[in-house]
Amino acid sequence: MPRQFFVGGNWKMNGDKASIDGIVNFLNAGAPYKDVEVVVSPPSPYLAYAKDKLKPDVLVAAQNCYKVRTERGEVGEYSLCVEVSKGAFTGEQSPAMLKDLGLKWVIIGHSERRHVFGESDELTADKTLHAIQEGLGVIFCIGEKLEEREAGKTKEVNFRQLAALVAKNPDWSKIVVAYEPVWAIGTGKTASPEQAQEVHEWVREFLNEKVSKEVGGATRIIYGGSVTPDNCVELGKKGDIDGFLVGGASLKPDFVKIINARN
Ligand code: PGA
Repeated sequence: MPRQFFVGGNWKMNGDKASIDGIVNFLNAGAPYKDVEVVVSPPSPYLAYAKDKLKPDVLVAAQNCYKVRTERGEVGEYSLCVEVSKGAFTGEQSPAMLKDLGLKWVIIGHSERRHVFGESDELTADKTLHAIQEGLGVIFCIGEKLEEREAGKTKEVNFRQLAALVAKNPDWSKIVVAYEPVWAIGTGKTASPEQAQEVHEWVREFLNEKVSKEVGGATRIIYGGSVTPDNCVELGKKGDIDGFLVGGASLKPDFVKIINARN
């Protein structure tokens, strides 16, 4: 089965109501998005605001959510492990809350979460598993830093980040893998189509081998890191690049060109 093209817009910590109105206007003005799944990710305070205004073929993702907390609780005469998705976690949001807002997606493991906020492979995998168990789809981000690439560790780092998730045995039909080399994010230095394709191929082989051929063949692997209207068409022609996760360029009207990169 062909993999449906997937384009995400990660707004990061940008926007206010007025600028979001502008983004909503250009997204809603685009012709119906066919053969492409479009998901934008506003900052948490604006999730409901953006969702209410966007047309239905533009879905909304959160940029993060917290993992499960397992508590021992008494249920009837039995002592059971009860998983709760609420509690004393100041500043966090649970997947259940995102579902309550009607959201279908969340981004987990973005390089800024991993490297600015120090989130580990283990936490990232835990959060992904919990979000999936709660019924969300996850855009699961991986990617190497510049020094890791220069040290010849690109494969090792991306495989290590993926392996943490493979170990949790998640439902892969709910996951889109975003390969985002850290050196390409927000730097204007895009990976060449060949560089991106090489890693995407590795990721697919890894999934074929460590999960199953079926999962390797069906999982969408999208590229992120300085994607623009000018480079998206060439990137999108590569066989293992199934879409994009776009930061800076997703805030501008030309984002619609990236959404339509394959059309
Ligand atoms: P960028 O960000 O497109 O601004 O490089 C991509 C991302 O962080 O997802």
